Amino acid sequence: MSEQNKTVLSFEIFPPKKDDDFDGVFSVCDKLAELHPAFISCTYGAGGSRSKKTVEVTDYIQNKLGIEAIAHMTCVGNKKEDIDAVASELKKVGVTHVLALRGDRPKDMSDEQFESREFAHASDLITYLKKNDDFKFAGACYPEKHPEAMSKRGDIANLKRKVECGASHLISQLFMDNDVYYEFQEQCLASGITVPIHAGIMPITSAKMVSTTIAMSGTSIPKAFSDLVVKYGDNNDDMRKAGVDYAIRQLQDLIDNGADGIHIYSMNKPKATKEIVDALRF
Ligand code: FAD
Repeated sequence: MSEQNKTVLSFEIFPPKKDDDFDGVFSVCDKLAELHPAFISCTYGAGGSRSKKTVEVTDYIQNKLGIEAIAHMTCVGNKKEDIDAVASELKKVGVTHVLALRGDRPKDMSDEQFESREFAHASDLITYLKKNDDFKFAGACYPEKHPEAMSKRGDIANLKRKVECGASHLISQLFMDNDVYYEFQEQCLASGITVPIHAGIMPITSAKMVSTTIAMSGTSIPKAFSDLVVKYGDNNDDMRKAGVDYAIRQLQDLIDNGADGIHIYSMNKPKATKEIVDALRF
């Protein structure tokens, strides 16, 4: 594979859950930095909660570690002033690469509030933030379609609008079956979406993650993986190893098939992430 076609490596982390645990997250960033990712993205609490933490963590990644940081930003419950405030904080620290997201509807948001929200979709957030002409945008995409979308075709048509509004690359929801991803890739191309797509892979390191994280994301679980959970789920060490091996196989197959990028949902676990990256041949 030529240098030009090389698959880009990136990671996702989340900010500290407790206010005083920045050191723990910075140490995760330090370890991930040793794996030389092209960028590290940092999530954003639903409804903008923890937004200051996202700014602080992305500031550290970009300015202390010298690695490009992408700050996630959601808008579903926000007014323009809230978005302006976060954008201004990000600009102050020089982080201008944003993963623009609508965000999930908060449980306490009424139908009326949801229907009259100021930003209907991630594409509206991009359009609004574009007035800061030094911002660059990524968008989210869903190989199995977004849960609210009526059809894959409709979801991809909406994704195309997001790209046309200014998302210069896309990061995918996690998936566990590469064939689903390859079909999605083809459908995107056929619809005229040609920006790079970073394939999101989450190493499943415990049986509990299947009923929590995977269930929440709506990702379907292929038989090959559910068989592993049946076989190893009762033994933490064996399940961890099986989950790491599964992620390695998925990622290697993506690299071998020329994926634009692989985006590892590190879950702030640098040890498992390192084991995976060390095993990959780029
Ligand atoms: P949108 O792109 O707005 O899409 C949402 C729905 O609206 C889809 O069904 C789509 O088909 C439809 N749609 C889009 N545009 C239009 C349009 N113009 N007209 C009509 N319909 C349209 N959540 C967080 O709270 N914090 C995070 O940090 C976070 N990070 C994420 C990172 C990734 C890589 C991914 C994949 C998801 C992340 N999420 C995060 C979850 C995300 O906020 C939810 O999935 C949310 O429900 C949708 O966000 P979106 O930006 O994809 O929305």
